[in-house]
Amino acid sequence: ALPSARGVAVHYLGTRYDSRPHEQCAAMVRSVRQTHLDHPTENYVDIAYNLVVCEHGAVFVGRGVRKRPGANGGTSQNASYYAVLALH
Ligand SMILES: [Zn+2]
Repeated sequence: ALPSARGVAVHYLGTRYDSRPHEQCAAMVRSVRQTHLDHPTENYVDIAYNLVVCEHGAVFVGRGVRKRPGANGGTSQNASYYAVLALH
């Protein structure tokens, strides 16, 4: 695991909640990942979250648990907390 991690930061997308059938969740995760890869200034190499969980209880592996996330707003926060997206 990330040796410097002290906890987990749970994120949400900040958009309106729209429930969806679980068959659409993987496409939603891919769309979030592509948004990060297309970001003009962040230089993301992957989705910024370690893990993504959906409303159906499924867990999608983002960067995985051994990688520093990019979603917590700064290098020290990213070194200290895993980033998990609660997908909605
Ligand atoms: Zn789902």
